[in-house]
Amino acid sequence: MSNESLDRFANAKLDRLTAHGLRRSVVDTQRTDAVHIRRAGRDLISFCCNDYLGLTHHAAVKAAAAEAVDAYGAGAGASRLITGNHDLYGVLESKLATLKGTEAACVFGSGYMANSGILPALAGPGDLIVIDELGHASMHMGARAARAEIRTFRHNDADDLASLLAENREKFGTCLVVTEGVFSMDGDRAPLDRLAAVTADHDAWLMVDDAHGFGVLGGGRGSAWEFDPHPEIPLQMGTLSKAAGVYGAFLCASAPVIELMKNRARSLVYTTGLPPAVIASCIAAVDIIATDADRVARPLHNAKTFCDAVGLPEPGSPIVPLVIGAEQATLEASAALEDAGFLVTPIRPPTVPAGTSRLRFTFTAEHTQAQVAALAAAVNGLFLPETDARAAGA
Ligand SMILES: *Cc1c(COP(=O)(O)O)cnc(C)c1O
Repeated sequence: MSNESLDRFANAKLDRLTAHGLRRSVVDTQRTDAVHIRRAGRDLISFCCNDYLGLTHHAAVKAAAAEAVDAYGAGAGASRLITGNHDLYGVLESKLATLKGTEAACVFGSGYMANSGILPALAGPGDLIVIDELGHASMHMGARAARAEIRTFRHNDADDLASLLAENREKFGTCLVVTEGVFSMDGDRAPLDRLAAVTADHDAWLMVDDAHGFGVLGGGRGSAWEFDPHPEIPLQMGTLSKAAGVYGAFLCASAPVIELMKNRARSLVYTTGLPPAVIASCIAAVDIIATDADRVARPLHNAKTFCDAVGLPEPGSPIVPLVIGAEQATLEASAALEDAGFLVTPIRPPTVPAGTSRLRFTFTAEHTQAQVAALAAAVNGLFLPETDARAAGA
């Protein structure tokens, strides 16, 4: 049985998306190892997964999950505050705190949930949250849930942030400044040293979402360790679903802040704990990040090799955008690469601003030199329109 007005509503919304070229679809996809995927019976080499270190299919990470399912069952059974706080949480959290150099850490269900819960625990009505204009949707989710005043600063512009804070900081109670270590659609890095200085000057708290830096930059510890000396960042968030290859997320911070999260972050309190097997896999993954320097260095190395070969500027992360501009041309370039055996998803508005449609390549530790070279050859063979797309990407 279906409710007619409900279906009419859904269909009208979908028709509008279709009319604007914004309709999306999920495609059945099987990742057969860290690099290969199977779609519609066809095997492709993926350059668009976030599995930077190839840990989704790493023997030790998989074995940890299998053993934990056997020992502890499939699910947690309750919220962490009831009976879902398996001992493995403490092990993972102390490893993360050690790696990040903080007093404590707290693991959340996912990055989206972490950002949704952290911000409202630290800011509310009468407080100020300032977000980089290219900040992830989950930051805005958290900021809206906080019901604080929300402002944005120009992308990676510490001077714009400084003047915004100079003008507005005193009108508010607490003030949080939120940015990403590595921006997910452009692969560029935030000027964390300058942002840390500006926030400290204005009694604001800096929170960095290092979803794409953790495990691949700063020797695995994250974007902040690309700076020497590394800036003090009081709120260091990251996910366990990208370089770590599993699922979940964390906040590394002082002991009182972490204690507050366990009391007040609604996306931690009012949700079931992670399955023990997920936590066990995360522990194995974090051990690899902490000890396998060669694996950690490879994604960025592969990105550099590719950029060299296609004439793009040196990348700051394993994410490499090739901005083409027009949507149609971007779709055609992606289709041509797929014909050549490579999966590279086209990124279009509203994910990125209009007129900046792009191919977005991600490089991993498991891509071979031969695969990177073959991709570069295919990209060099693309017929790209109008203005020099390489220059636009620069
Ligand atoms: C992927 C991502 C998230 C969400 O993390 P999940 O663990 O996938 O929910 C949050 N912030 C940024 C910047 C991301 O790229």
